[in-house]
Amino acid sequence: MKLVIIGGVAGGASAAARARRLSEAAEIILVERGPDVSFANCGLPYYLGGVIAERAKLLVTTPERLRTRFRIDVRTQSTAVRIEPANKTVRIRETGGREYDQPYDKLISAPGAAPIRPPLAGVDLPGIFTLRNLHDVDQIQTRLHAGVRQAVVVGAGFIGLELVENLVHRGISTTLVELADQVLPPLDPEMTTPIVETLKSHGVEILTGEAAAAFRATAEGLAVQLKSGRELTGQLVVLGVGVRPENALAVEAGLEVGARGGIKVNEFLQTSDPDIFAVGDAIETTDFVLGGPTQVPLAGPANRQGRIAADNVFGRASKYRGTQGTAVLGVFGRTAAMTGASAKTLRRLERPFHAVYIHPTDHAGYYPGAEQMTLKVLFDPETGRLLGAQGVGGAGVDKRIDVLAIALQARLTVFDLEEVELAYAPQYGSAKDPINMAGFVAAGWLRGDHPQVDVPSLLAMSDDARPLVLDVRTPEEFAAGHIPHAMNVPIDELRLRLAELPADRPIVAYCQVGQRGYLATRILRQLGKDAVNLSGGYRTYRLWQPNG
Ligand code: FAD
Repeated sequence: MKLVIIGGVAGGASAAARARRLSEAAEIILVERGPDVSFANCGLPYYLGGVIAERAKLLVTTPERLRTRFRIDVRTQSTAVRIEPANKTVRIRETGGREYDQPYDKLISAPGAAPIRPPLAGVDLPGIFTLRNLHDVDQIQTRLHAGVRQAVVVGAGFIGLELVENLVHRGISTTLVELADQVLPPLDPEMTTPIVETLKSHGVEILTGEAAAAFRATAEGLAVQLKSGRELTGQLVVLGVGVRPENALAVEAGLEVGARGGIKVNEFLQTSDPDIFAVGDAIETTDFVLGGPTQVPLAGPANRQGRIAADNVFGRASKYRGTQGTAVLGVFGRTAAMTGASAKTLRRLERPFHAVYIHPTDHAGYYPGAEQMTLKVLFDPETGRLLGAQGVGGAGVDKRIDVLAIALQARLTVFDLEEVELAYAPQYGSAKDPINMAGFVAAGWLRGDHPQVDVPSLLAMSDDARPLVLDVRTPEEFAAGHIPHAMNVPIDELRLRLAELPADRPIVAYCQVGQRGYLATRILRQLGKDAVNLSGGYRTYRLWQPNG
């Protein structure tokens, strides 16, 4: 078996190592355009920020290691320039200029995705970068060493925000420009509020609903002209506006690609040519939750796909389950994470869903150091099957989203979340873990025990339909901020002050995070009142209405 692999980083290197573990006899040739294989793309922003001090740490493995330990024929500085499926050869061009045809029995293509460089005036000026590999990072580092006081990061996705954090670490005044009307566009907008607040508290200027229109050189360095007409100045611009699958070879070879350019593969990661497999950022996969095609450029899927493709090359029928988009970001000590579908996507696809919000602490509140988080769990309103989850906050967000990611993959329901047994001691969690709590709140809604309304629905109610908004927190909490027109009856006085409530008006009860509001709802409903709880309470309200 002669296996040729194009691309030597996440998907390609994983495929190569797995292939060797499956076959000592195979000839495995790994072709990589750049000088490095298997480097840590995900660590690049942290090297720029100085968090990772040594460049060498970014090299997860080296060509030498792949040669000696795995007996892989690693050919760096070698670009695959053409695939000829009819002859089963790959045309390879070495950096020095030599070209040759490399025969294969099976081919795994893992060329990744290239950062998008929008065709804007001046986009190729010195000082304007994208970030994909060590070459990019070296160039940015050189620019930083030359003296950068102000930087502009265009694109507020995961990479953009990591860059912002690391530039600020270096003492650089940084402005973030994002076309969408929110940062972190994969998340639902309200879940990004704490991230925006954190960025602002670290001096980052955030311009959402704004786009770079042109660049020009100035005495100061660079000027970034925005669509609104405003101009930003800086000595460094980094573009993080998304990536595009590297599909040119596949297209030229006649392989099928999807509408967004991803190479089409079946569940065995086989392209439209059965001898050619494709993995990683270059492919279109199936959305695990929604079922349609999707392109999700993440390291986890790329690495696992590399293994699966190698399995299939060596006759082990191995299926890829689809991508659910589990992702996490850390920025200035805050964490944002998600898995599965967002409310935005479900709404766009007109898929019915319901969402609940909770704001638990990562571990028992009485044990020192507890940090609050917000979890949003989305589920099917008929069956309770999980559809997605998002979390934002401090410690413990990553753990809960990982648990929910597994629950989602196991196609569990919110009723299962009520029952899951998770490790507990006060410094790690709570006897009712946030996962259980999310299950209780969601299942309570499904069973009709805990009717809830969400903040947008409350805000959308016209004056005529406006219910009594009943704040059941303490007067001190009420005084510190409340929903306009709310009436304050603390939960402990509610049973004594029922006569003050209008007899025939629906009631939306709320507290700080939803728990006292739930109790109020239960009290009132058992008295025959039309009462619902505001999902996630005042804290969720402030996510939607950060300015009051
Ligand atoms: P790549 O890792 O991009 O590898 C493709 C390789 O193929 C490249 O080295 C390229 O030079 C080579 N190649 C392309 N064409 C040819 C050719 N014709 N001939 C020879 N070689 C070729 N994901 C996460 O899940 N979490 C993170 O925190 C995270 N952070 C990231 C931070 C940054 C700055 C970047 C850039 C990416 C990050 N990612 C993260 C995304 C993750 O790195 C990618 O999803 C993953 O590397 C994709 O793997 P891949 O094998 O498909 O492509």
